[in-house]
Amino acid sequence: MSKAIICSCEDVTADDVRHALAKGYHDVESVKRYTGFGTGICQGKSCLSAVAALVAKEGPLKSPGVLPFTPRPPLYPTELSLFASMPVDEAQAPVGGVPQELGTFPQALRPTTELPQKAKVVIIGGGVMGLALAYNLSRHGETDVVVLERGYLCAGASGRNGGGVRMQWGTASNIELAKRSIDLMKQFARDLGINVWLRQGGYLFLTRTEAVAKRLERNVELHNKHGVPTRIITAGAAREIVPGLTLKGIVSASYNPEDGVMFPWAFLWGYAQHCLKKGIRVETFTNVTGFDISGGQIRKVKTDRGDIACEQVVLAAGAWSPEIAQLAGVKLPNEPHRHEILSTEPLKPFLGPLVSVLDSGLYFSQSMRGEIVGGMGDPHEPAGLNMGSTLRFTARFSQGLTEQLPQVGHVKVLRQWAGCYDVTPDNNPVLGRTPGLDNLLQMSGFVGHGFMMAPAVAERMAAWMTTEQSDELFQRFNLRRFTSGRLEREDMIIG
Ligand SMILES: Cc1cc2nc3c(=O)[nH]c(=O)nc-3n(C[C@H](O)[C@H](O)[C@H](O)COP(=O)(O)OP(=O)(O)OC[C@H]3O[C@@H](n4cnc5c(N)ncnc54)[C@H](O)[C@@H]3O)c2cc1C
Repeated sequence: MSKAIICSCEDVTADDVRHALAKGYHDVESVKRYTGFGTGICQGKSCLSAVAALVAKEGPLKSPGVLPFTPRPPLYPTELSLFASMPVDEAQAPVGGVPQELGTFPQALRPTTELPQKAKVVIIGGGVMGLALAYNLSRHGETDVVVLERGYLCAGASGRNGGGVRMQWGTASNIELAKRSIDLMKQFARDLGINVWLRQGGYLFLTRTEAVAKRLERNVELHNKHGVPTRIITAGAAREIVPGLTLKGIVSASYNPEDGVMFPWAFLWGYAQHCLKKGIRVETFTNVTGFDISGGQIRKVKTDRGDIACEQVVLAAGAWSPEIAQLAGVKLPNEPHRHEILSTEPLKPFLGPLVSVLDSGLYFSQSMRGEIVGGMGDPHEPAGLNMGSTLRFTARFSQGLTEQLPQVGHVKVLRQWAGCYDVTPDNNPVLGRTPGLDNLLQMSGFVGHGFMMAPAVAERMAAWMTTEQSDELFQRFNLRRFTSGRLEREDMIIG
């Protein structure tokens, strides 16, 4: 066994890279995500070419198919205080950002094996929803399942999120789903043999307005009714939980010590590896391009690698779901909205909870690797599938963060990226059967909280699909509610 270090910032050895290759992570982007190489203070400048050379030498992909991972701004590690000093025109809408070109995956990454010609269930989207569903179907004995993913695993929002998991919601349905998900996350290491680094350091919500304070009070009552120990706390108590927090203008806070954060990518790998072990096909770099429809049923899913005949299709393509539904003549009400996020250099543990200022959409937490990870919604962000990173975001976030926690001004930002929230008119998902196309099942519209909902929603969806039992979840959040006006609004949305 070789202990030769290939990425000294993150202590990644050449053997770690070989291990990733053996696990099927053949492209540099996936190797980065699996091993963490290139995510340290040098931002990949000293290790990227060495890893790429090893991947080309020992993996199945050969040059020119071996491409560098997507570069992330800033160009050099830069202090939050410097970004915070930049002027921001709040009246302007944000612009495109870098990199502009996303969502195109090189031909060289396309699998060389044949795509199966038929499967009982085809799941479109290899994000947390699609993979969690495939995993749960296998637990019900259903393994004639193919998951189709256009890019690498974690290419969508599931590989770009903040990893926050919380029970502090505004509706009974979401409280119960989140409670169940967190219970399942606690067992994940035992069930799937992978550590998802769940840390229950709590969520601390702050508000600057009386209207939101009233909402928090109402929600806390609901949480307590559902056995969630959230409480309204004073500004002084909030400062005891997060020393150094400035509370100017804060009128109220709510805190649940059982909320937390976890590491998103490990979660996906856990599900994907279990699926593969059970014989489920997870076909990455496979783009769904259309459907064969007859007699009110989808008969085949068309892809750029061939067609698959199937009995049921699940649309779990997150923010891309509306454009795929359109291929089947179905209109979804979801809209994609870019959300930007960043990560700093690692620090010793100092921050217990994820902190969020509800009025501004600012949130930040400390990951298990020690980085401050956070984001902030932009009220001027137009709808669209944009995943570019902007300087405007870094400046706005740094201003918000250093106003709330001035002592982190010297901390350096290492990388920023963006993903899309999959937003519905009532901030709740689209689930269940599609009117007029009965064998197309919907599983999208999880806004900015799909990661934490996936384990519980997928558990219920797999049970509903494989047994005769009805489940009110798939009536309550059915597509029909948008035409009947029976909306169920969730207002505890960050950003
Ligand atoms: C910045 C940010 C922060 C967030 N923070 C949190 C958080 O703290 N906690 C939380 O719970 N949630 C959070 N979320 C939301 C969460 O990440 C999403 O709700 C969740 O990941 C959605 O999972 P999904 O599987 O539905 O979609 P995705 O993960 O987007 O997966 C959909 C997949 O479909 C694939 N696809 C698209 N088109 C096609 C096609 N034609 N053929 C085949 N495949 C296709 C895409 O490549 C993609 O991988 C955040 C999101 C963002 C963007």
